Amino acid sequence: MVYTDPGLTFLEYYRLFKTGLQDDPCINWRQLTHGGLIAQINDRGPCLAVISGLHGDERSGPLALLEWACRQAGPLCPSDKRVWLLPLLNDQGWDKQERMWQEVDLNRAFLPNREGTPMFVQEIMDEWTRRPPDMFLDIHEDDTRPDEPYLFWYKEETHDLALQLAEHLQAKSEPWDDLEYWRGSDEVYLRTLGCQHCITIESPAGWAMQERIRWNLAAVEWCIKHLGELF
Ligand SMILES: [Zn+2]
Repeated sequence: MVYTDPGLTFLEYYRLFKTGLQDDPCINWRQLTHGGLIAQINDRGPCLAVISGLHGDERSGPLALLEWACRQAGPLCPSDKRVWLLPLLNDQGWDKQERMWQEVDLNRAFLPNREGTPMFVQEIMDEWTRRPPDMFLDIHEDDTRPDEPYLFWYKEETHDLALQLAEHLQAKSEPWDDLEYWRGSDEVYLRTLGCQHCITIESPAGWAMQERIRWNLAAVEWCIKHLGELF
């Protein structure tokens, strides 16, 4: 089943998402205060955290993860690897098809001092602090580059995970190193916790929805395949 309906509400989304995974015995569920769900797939091995829908007007990441959850074509992940999956974060922005959550940019809300940080973001921060993932993928889209997929590559890295994924996805790698400028993003927060294998990807909003979904899923599957490898 493929869901490309951009009119899907937050609650409808999670109903479908949970239904898609309900027969999988390897999933542990947790609910955030605003109703969002975290699906933890398997309970041992290296962990990939995947998050999407921080910006409510960027539809293809959550829709890709919904399609993935509903595929029913065998296990989503080998049993010796874990996936921590939060497919849609911004409830109000999603339903209004707006970028922000109550005028808060959720990708600037992962703040150590928690000033202005919504409760459901604090819950995620607490969970990551208790158990940081080994690899992290944040799925966005960009409407300012209608035809150019790219990902962010942290220049100070001592490994080439991001560059390898960029090659696999035929995406441009956008170098960055200013942690202060990106302070409050989920990626910077995880880097301060010691997670060094973080990637934020941006599909072009100018692509057809199904093309963006396909590209996002290629990234998820590549990360799972290479999870636990030394980069
Ligand atoms: Zn975004």
